[in-house]
Amino acid sequence: MKYSGIIIGKRDVREVDRLYVVYTLEQGRLSMLGKGVRKASAKLAGNLETLSHVEIYMSKGRGQGNITGAIALDSFLSLKADFSALGRVFYAVSYFNKFITQEEKDEKSFEFLLEYLRVMDALAASGKGERKYDAVTFGFLFKFLENVGYGIDANFCSVCEGKITGGGNYFSAKRGGIICGNCRRQEGGTVRIDDHSVKLIRIFYKNRIASLSKLEVSRRDISNLKIVFQEFANWIK
Ligand SMILES: [Zn+2]
Repeated sequence: MKYSGIIIGKRDVREVDRLYVVYTLEQGRLSMLGKGVRKASAKLAGNLETLSHVEIYMSKGRGQGNITGAIALDSFLSLKADFSALGRVFYAVSYFNKFITQEEKDEKSFEFLLEYLRVMDALAASGKGERKYDAVTFGFLFKFLENVGYGIDANFCSVCEGKITGGGNYFSAKRGGIICGNCRRQEGGTVRIDDHSVKLIRIFYKNRIASLSKLEVSRRDISNLKIVFQEFANWIK
């Protein structure tokens, strides 16, 4: 079987083997065994680096098959050479890994991940700065969570259903949405959400990941988005 996949994890097993976690277009997350890839003579390992987009061949269709060949389609070398971009990508992939299911096809999640890696690689190559990495990373994460069933209604209060207006709003992980200042008094476990963060979440949902690199975000925006995202993601899983 041939797959289009992104390597999202690996660990050494037995003496010379390595187990890879590959997110595939065709079947979602798959575990694949690279037999003998740690031998000095093995050529396969160079095409199986973490975060690379690969065409990969596996000897059986389901479960933990053996890798019989791999061609690197995109290695994202600029991204891998930039530690601050890479740190964000590992952060995002750790959440991605948490929310995807084993052997379940999800083309949209695959496309999001691939587009995210491409955009981060291009940003790293252009040297446009760290704030861009953050906007794209949280854009990817909010879009991905929405795609797997955890969208946030950024327009209406999750309790009274009133329109969300500026000033004094909160995010409730339990309700998976924003609540207004009035309703907050009856709700526990909320975090403050800035007006600009509400606006950014709306923008994330409406736009492609590639366009998000044009956004201007402040350090404060990012720290608020991160609090909201982590509150939500950790509550779900
Ligand atoms: Zn309300």
